[in-house]
Amino acid sequence: MNKITIAIDGFSSTGKSTVAKQLAKALGYVYVDTGAMYRAVTLYAMQSGLINNSDFNVEALIYQLSNINISFKFNAALGFAEVYLNDVNIEKKIRTLEVSSFVSKVAAISKVRKKLVEQQQKMGHDKGVVMDGRDIGTVVFPDAELKLFMTASAETRAERRFQELIERGDKVDYKDVLQNVQERDYIDSNRADSPLIKAKDAIEIDNSHMSLDEQFNKILKLANMTIEDLE
Ligand code: C5P
Repeated sequence: MNKITIAIDGFSSTGKSTVAKQLAKALGYVYVDTGAMYRAVTLYAMQSGLINNSDFNVEALIYQLSNINISFKFNAALGFAEVYLNDVNIEKKIRTLEVSSFVSKVAAISKVRKKLVEQQQKMGHDKGVVMDGRDIGTVVFPDAELKLFMTASAETRAERRFQELIERGDKVDYKDVLQNVQERDYIDSNRADSPLIKAKDAIEIDNSHMSLDEQFNKILKLANMTIEDLE
């Protein structure tokens, strides 16, 4: 059976990673969470003292980029690959509101993007991959056979992210989560390098009023149709 590349882009907290993981499992494909890679670089900058309150030493981060090694290791118990920074598992550390509040500034740096995009292209080279992010269908894999663009209202997305953080035990306010979602939407959509835009050939899915099952079934159907069309 032909393997395809599936690119899932969209705004923050649109449930891209949930559906991407389900889809990869159903198809026997590899799932790559590219947001985790930008979050890993952000965590590195924070741990190395390059980000202090609102001060961010961009030059030093660029200089130290070659010290940053990001890898994924499959965790059979969880059913997906966790992200590692210089061989340390950072899967939980990168999901905090603190990392979220800096990640879009880090992701706007062209040299950071160049490094991560090269790695992403290598990971998806043999197809059979579901990759989620902001620029997968436009920059990383412009020839992907199936491109999806996920949307939902900012309030719906903030509510989902808020529940996730609360369930993890983080103490956060809904209004801070909403503000972070809106700020990231703005920075991600307006940056000069690889802004978040819907690829011309992407299928838009607004999941504001869709259950997880409805969304998964719709997307699995699209994937199977795309695979069949190639045969
Ligand atoms: O997907 P997630 O919310 O974890 O992504 C975190 C941030 O990483 C995004 O808000 C965006 O700034 C950046 N990102 C990006 N390009 C990608 C994936 C994520 O710029 N392909």
